[in-house]
This record gives sequence, structure tokens and C-alpha cells, in this order.
Amino acid sequence: MAVEERDCSVEIDFEKLFNEQSRKLSDMVERLYRNSPFYREKLNKAGVRPEDIRRVEDLEQVPFTTKSELREGYPFGLMAVPDEQVVRIHSSSGTTGKPIIVPYTKNDVSVWAEMMARCMEMAGVTPRDRVQVTPGYGLWTAGIGFQAGVERLGAMAIPTGPGNTEKQLEMMADIGTTVLIGTSSYGLLLAEEIHKRGIRDKIKLRIGIFGSERWSDKMRARIEEDLNIDTFDIYGLTEIYGPGIGIDCPMHRGIHFWSDHLIFEIIDPETGKQVPPGTQGELVITTLTKEGMPLLRYRTHDVTTLRREMCPCGSPFPMIDRVLGRTDDMIKVKGVNIYPGQIDHVLRMTPGACSEYQILLTRENAKDRILIKVEAEDGCSLEQVSGECKKNIKTKIGIIADVEAVPRGTLPRSEKKTRRVFDNRDC
Ligand code: ZN
Repeated sequence: MAVEERDCSVEIDFEKLFNEQSRKLSDMVERLYRNSPFYREKLNKAGVRPEDIRRVEDLEQVPFTTKSELREGYPFGLMAVPDEQVVRIHSSSGTTGKPIIVPYTKNDVSVWAEMMARCMEMAGVTPRDRVQVTPGYGLWTAGIGFQAGVERLGAMAIPTGPGNTEKQLEMMADIGTTVLIGTSSYGLLLAEEIHKRGIRDKIKLRIGIFGSERWSDKMRARIEEDLNIDTFDIYGLTEIYGPGIGIDCPMHRGIHFWSDHLIFEIIDPETGKQVPPGTQGELVITTLTKEGMPLLRYRTHDVTTLRREMCPCGSPFPMIDRVLGRTDDMIKVKGVNIYPGQIDHVLRMTPGACSEYQILLTRENAKDRILIKVEAEDGCSLEQVSGECKKNIKTKIGIIADVEAVPRGTLPRSEKKTRRVFDNRDC
């Protein structure tokens, strides 16, 4: 894709950006105070009056909104419009306890479709494309969100939903799918299947848009290589519309987000204090135009960095880094804090190691044992790959782990998200 490279030493004019966001922010806070009993009480308790929040910088006075508050509000505790304005609900998966219900107004649905269409456009999707949407439809936000974006852009949606790989591949070949949407795990599964069957020449794919889980550069390279496509990392969460609030561009320098609808702040997850652009921390999001369930300073638990510089692609929208992990993904082994993203990093630097791995934790004789199973490339010595991995884990992460290399394709593949950490230490 030909993209003109621009000067990337130019920094984002954050003052100008905050000025633009501030007007929308003060309108929203006033609206929330009037219409949302939840936020009225929350702001009163914190001693914050709506007129105190005039500018983005004032946000620091506002307490965070947490996922557990959203759960406690089940089902409509955070709804900020009368019933007759709600046209749809979505819900989070709710693996533990009650799910979170998110009400959308007509305008929310439209803004979401617009943001999603922008994402697709940024990835180079055009009205001539045929877009296979493999995420699930239903209460879950993904399928329907992508579908609406494809239609808004004017491309052709192929709403297969998840599963049935046989049928997916048949549709892909017969209809001439050019854009694949899914989790990165499913992208990998399909890529390997197409490669194994030697049917790449029957497939017209040129773009992959993947999201909903963290994926390593190694996994990305594998998908791109097997399918000969360009891939894009799309960002979002059910509590804030769903997928489509940000995506990386053809320069792949970070994830652009739609700052006319959302404020992204980065905080230190320990102290809760804002950190300046360029510093890693936890992403906190405030919605600017959402009506059904607007959120003030929602803690995402996603770890990333707000970038200082303008993207060379020329987009006026600011960027965060690709999400490195979640603050609650952290595992503590032998007194050391580890993020699964660190294992990705080790695998990237280990010759012969593939992207796929599992972390198995057990306790033996009151001691933690960590075993990492990792796939090795075809033709590589398993012994050598496991030895290299073990050495790199020790130098990069600082712990002694057992490593078992297994042949490529041994570990399970997923049509949804891949589970990589198995903590059996309580058993
Ligand atoms: Zn860009």
C-alpha cells in the first residue's frame, strides 16, 4: 500500500486537542449530572460540581468508574436516558457473576458504526471489498459492530459468525472474501488451515482485521506470511461501544483512536495519578458523546502508552501503543511479577520458537513450579529451542522456568480467544 511518509518528529498539539475535547466534556458532565442518579451521587460524594469540570485537565478531580460498579448497577443502574430513547442493549460475557448491560440510543448506534467505518477505511477497506465477519453475533458487541461498520462504509458484509472452519473456507473461496475479521487466534487457525491445504491461490484475501485479545508480533508475522496479507489491530471494549474505537494504520506505529468521541488518559495503576504522554500505564477512557451509558474515567486495566508524536500516515488522530497486556493478567511466580506479554517478547528473540505457548503453574513441596510449553518451528531441534528459551527467560524475566518445546501445531488452536495461562496452584 503506498502511503506517503511524513515527518514523524512533529508532536501532537495536545493543547489544541484538549481545547476541542473540553467543550464536549463539560456538556457531557452537565448532562450526566442532570440525568444519571449514579453519577450525581458519585460526583456529590467526591465534592465535585459539574461546573468544576470545564477542561480535560479538570478530570483528575473526578473519581474513576470501575467494572465492579458497572456490575453492581446491573441491569440499568448507569443508564442516563429515559427508556424510550434506548434502541438496543449489549452485554459483556460475564464469566463471573452478573454480566454488564450496556444500553445504546439511536445516536450511539450511529456513532459506533461511524467509528467502525473509519477503522475499516484506515485499514484500506473500500466499498469494493467483501468482508467476512467471523466474530459472534448476539448480545456480544463484536459481530454486529463490525457488520454495521462494513455497511456504513458500503462494502459487502459476509456475516458468517464464528465456527465451522470448513464452511468459512468454502465461503471465502466461493464468494471471494478480500477482508477477514476475527480474533487473532482464529486468524492463525484459518491461516494455518489454508497453508496446510495449499489453497492460498483460491483465496482472494488482502486484509485481516483482528482484535479482542493481545497478539504478539510473532503471531502477526505468521498470519501475514501464511496468508500474504496486511493485518490491523483493532481496539475496543464492550463497556465503551465495543470494538472499533481505535485501530492501527498502514504505518503500524500504534493505534489511532477517535479523540472526537473519547478522551484517553494514562494513569499509574498503583497511585491512580495521571502520567504524561510517552509514559506506560493503565488506559482510562471518558466518553464525550455517548448517551445511553456515558462513562467518566473508566478503568480499562489495559496497559499502554499515549504517543507524543504525530503518525507519519498524516492522520490527525492521536495514537496509543498496541496494548501490552492487562494489569489483572499479571501472575506472581516465585515472588516475581510476570505479564504474559513478557513471554511473547522472549519467544520473539528465540530463534526457532513459534508464537504459540502455554504457561502452567503448579505448587510442589510448597514451591512454585512454572512450566512453559512452546511450539518450535518445523525442522528445529526441540532440545535446542527449549534450552534457548530457558536461558532467555532467565536473563529477560529473571526466573528459572522449565521449558518444554513441542512440535508446531501441537498446542490447541482457538476460534475465539486463546487461553495461555493455567494456574493450578490452589489445587
Ligand atoms: Zn497512522
